[in-house]
Amino acid sequence: MSFQQINPTGCKKCGGRRWEYTDYCRTEHEEIVEHRCLEVDCGYQELTYGDEFHTYSKTPEEVRKFIKEYELEEELEQVKEGRQMAVSTDPAYLKALNEAVQSADPKLLERFFFMEKTINEIFRNPFKRISEGWSDVRIGCYLLGNEQLDNQLFPKHPSGKTKLDRTNPNVVRFIDKAEKWLEETGKCLIDGQVKAAQPKGFGGAN
Ligand SMILES: [Zn+2]
Repeated sequence: MSFQQINPTGCKKCGGRRWEYTDYCRTEHEEIVEHRCLEVDCGYQELTYGDEFHTYSKTPEEVRKFIKEYELEEELEQVKEGRQMAVSTDPAYLKALNEAVQSADPKLLERFFFMEKTINEIFRNPFKRISEGWSDVRIGCYLLGNEQLDNQLFPKHPSGKTKLDRTNPNVVRFIDKAEKWLEETGKCLIDGQVKAAQPKGFGGAN
């Protein structure tokens, strides 16, 4: 039985999107593992056929050809839009992360993970996006709110990456619209949610 996926941060060389395929060859009785970087600037390949192991790099042209032949364009875009961060195994970071999770407000943690899940779903499923009436502004507010909670709840990621990928034109479009809307309507984000902005000097009435 074969298995394949695109790992959003799989490539060992560039940390980019990697096509991962595993299969078992019944005639040769050997395991086949193909790891192929799908970033055109990298194209690093690690191929295992039983005891044989090869590595080489594809040219940008070869990477494009592979993506086209395997009809991976759409999935690649979705993986990019999923904006997943590299998983860090830095022990100091994991310790800080664990402490942050232990001491965080459970309600906010729950909200963060719910937002994260919803964002991934609406990016992957245009039907959900349309049928549930997700406007660009609403998506943008969700992205910004999710990032705000991420900053509030968790330590800084060691890679220096921020939650939102501002190199992704879709992400930029959504958050631009949301920021404009928030300003125009005098609203702001608090604990990841849209709230009416407090008047200046608000003392926190009971
Ligand atoms: Zn790569």
